[in-house]
Amino acid sequence: MGLEQFKNRNVGRQDYVMLDLGHTPETGMGKFKQVVRRTVKPELFVGLWVTFREMINALFRGKMHTVKYPLEKLPISPRYRAIHEMLRLLESGHYRCIGCGLCEKICISNCIAMETRYDENQRKEVTEYTINFGRCIFCGYCAEVCPELAIVHGPRYETASEQRASFSLFEDMLTPKDKLDMQKEFEGFGAVSPNADENIKKTPLAY
Ligand code: SF4
Ligand code: SF4
Repeated sequence: MGLEQFKNRNVGRQDYVMLDLGHTPETGMGKFKQVVRRTVKPELFVGLWVTFREMINALFRGKMHTVKYPLEKLPISPRYRAIHEMLRLLESGHYRCIGCGLCEKICISNCIAMETRYDENQRKEVTEYTINFGRCIFCGYCAEVCPELAIVHGPRYETASEQRASFSLFEDMLTPKDKLDMQKEFEGFGAVSPNADENIKKTPLAY
């Protein structure tokens, strides 16, 4: 807008539209009637009907739209990266970890600490294994790099605890021996794909 137009602008325009706001009641009964008239409209009953219908569906027809957490839980993706689990070999029940240390080295938060030694059979034995969950960012690198599929991300996503140490020890993450038959093969991050056998090619030595 130029300066001349700015000076000449018509601030007192005559074409304003005055809204018809109706009569303002002055008595108590008049105000009450106005409130009722404005509140009770057909749309109100449409909303009430939708609420009533959904309530009947939920109570008598089993069509519930909510889950009763923590009694019920929604399924999570197999690739979800929750609290780690250490798996056992199904045949012998021995833990799968071979103490290679790859997970410890790849961990970008430097939160895995482990110690190993050779047992009497010259097999590497894991003597200490902890994950500091106060530092872990659940990136999944440890599960991806593990050659034995020993460390995986389990489905336990409720990480609240009064003490960090209460879920970071090797024994806490290891499948209990009496629940070995319930141990599920990991299908998520770093797991072998279902068609892995088809993707294996013959080595030149086979010819
Ligand atoms: S998920 Fe990532 S940050 Fe957590 S322990 Fe594994 S490698 Fe480390
Ligand atoms: S990468 Fe796997 S096998 Fe190696 S130390 Fe870690 S958990 Fe054990």
